[in-house]
Amino acid sequence: LVSKKWKVAPTTIDLGDGVCIKDGDMAVIAGPCSIESEEQIRKVINHLKENNIKMMRGGVFKPRSSPYAFRGLGLDGLKLWYELAQEAGIKIVTEVMQVSQIEEMYPYVDIYQVGARNTQNFNLLDELGKVDKAVMIKRGISGTIEELLQSAEYVFSGGNEKLILCERGIRTYERASRNTLDLNAVPILKAKSHLPVIVDPSHGIGLREYVTQMALAGVMAGADGIIYETHEIPEKAYSDGQQTLDFTQSGMLADWIRRTFEMR
Ligand code: PEP
Ligand code: MN
Repeated sequence: LVSKKWKVAPTTIDLGDGVCIKDGDMAVIAGPCSIESEEQIRKVINHLKENNIKMMRGGVFKPRSSPYAFRGLGLDGLKLWYELAQEAGIKIVTEVMQVSQIEEMYPYVDIYQVGARNTQNFNLLDELGKVDKAVMIKRGISGTIEELLQSAEYVFSGGNEKLILCERGIRTYERASRNTLDLNAVPILKAKSHLPVIVDPSHGIGLREYVTQMALAGVMAGADGIIYETHEIPEKAYSDGQQTLDFTQSGMLADWIRRTFEMR
């Protein structure tokens, strides 16, 4: 069902208030790796507004490699974020880690993110298939393109057609970068599926100094949007600071993304 053999016309994700993710457009989603505090949310929202960015990412439930690392503000953090985002007209993209969170998060979420560690959590995918809100599925850490499409098939066949695919880098033998952003996946996914494709250069390369280049490469590869991490002081971010842009870099990147897209 997610294949172009089934449906040729590109799928549009309409989040309301004129915010769409779709073929022929360029979605920009930016925000911190983790939601940290009210002050931090306010600062990010101001930055997004200044740069005409309408979708904010951020984790309140964080899948961390170490159980001792910061694991997010949870539902209370999401509620606080929702209030501030609502006021500012900003859409919320955040990770859902388990089935029981789907319902409690529902009123506050615009796009449920399925993280790379959960791409093959088939129970979670089944349940998200029953929801009438958009879902962005990230490619598994060691997942193939075909496996990503099959994960999407779980949600789509469950009845939820509001799906977005995200290339976020895969684990290879290369250790010079955190992950290897597989730009090949972009044109291949676009050719195989009618679903919008988003690129995450932050997790894709994992090194702040190269995020901009890889974001623009993603645009040129044919992505329908870019999702990246930004924070007022990346060095102080609770998670993923090493791959997070400061607001100056983020503002420049948002501008370059749009200009590169116009040239494409
Ligand atoms: C994130 O978006 O911060 C995240 C944890 O992503 P991924 O699941 O791609 O590692
Ligand atoms: Mn992150």
